[in-house]
Amino acid sequence: MNIIIATQNPHKVTEFSACSTQISFEPTPVSIEVDENADSFVGNARLKARAYAGALHRNVIADDSGLCVDALGGAPGIFSARYATLPPDVDLDPDRQAANNRKLLRNLSGVANRAAHFTCALCIVIVEPRDVAWASSNPETRHVATFYDDQFHPVPAGDARAVCAELVFESQAHGIILDVLSGTGGFGYDPLFFCPQTGCTFASLTREQKLGVSHRGRALAQLAGLFERACLAEDKG
Ligand code: IMP
Repeated sequence: MNIIIATQNPHKVTEFSACSTQISFEPTPVSIEVDENADSFVGNARLKARAYAGALHRNVIADDSGLCVDALGGAPGIFSARYATLPPDVDLDPDRQAANNRKLLRNLSGVANRAAHFTCALCIVIVEPRDVAWASSNPETRHVATFYDDQFHPVPAGDARAVCAELVFESQAHGIILDVLSGTGGFGYDPLFFCPQTGCTFASLTREQKLGVSHRGRALAQLAGLFERACLAEDKG
């Protein structure tokens, strides 16, 4: 199956492309402005995937991710990318992530509970007719996909009105927020996110090591596993 990746981020294109031999991923040929106004990671991933699939008439994958801190009631959550620009104490430093990290440290100053997790939601929207038919007839995908008619109303798998199949994957990586930055790799909140499994921050891992334990790596592994099982089922059928 061919799937367009709805991102301009070259790191994500590399990560997605490496995750499965059953899927041929392609970078998006255009950038589409999507108002990510859903109240969940899955909701925002779905908005992006649907917008790109609707415009391109191609199968699309989109993701949405962020950091949720227990002591902050799950903040910054879906606002992770623009945490510092949200009131109170708005910080408009052009280095947005440095400002995000400063705000996180400020808000956790003196807080003993440093538990946090990253979440990654992936949404695949399949609209190419041959692939919708495949998803609805394959025993592995027909039970985990949601099928829609041309008005985006859900219909049963195998229904003749189905013009779209949607698959969602969500995964977390749990860790601890440090009180100083550590490590120079990765991006975003990585230098503050200590991963107990590896004994260091995400910013101290290579890209491959991070993919092995990260929220995005785990969600991609779920996706790759499903397609692997689906292709095996197809070979047997
Ligand atoms: P997006 O889903 O790529 O837009 O990510 C939203 C924001 O969440 C990013 O700008 C980062 O601040 C944060 N984030 C998501 N994934 C990671 C990660 O793997 N490491 C560090 N920060 C992340």
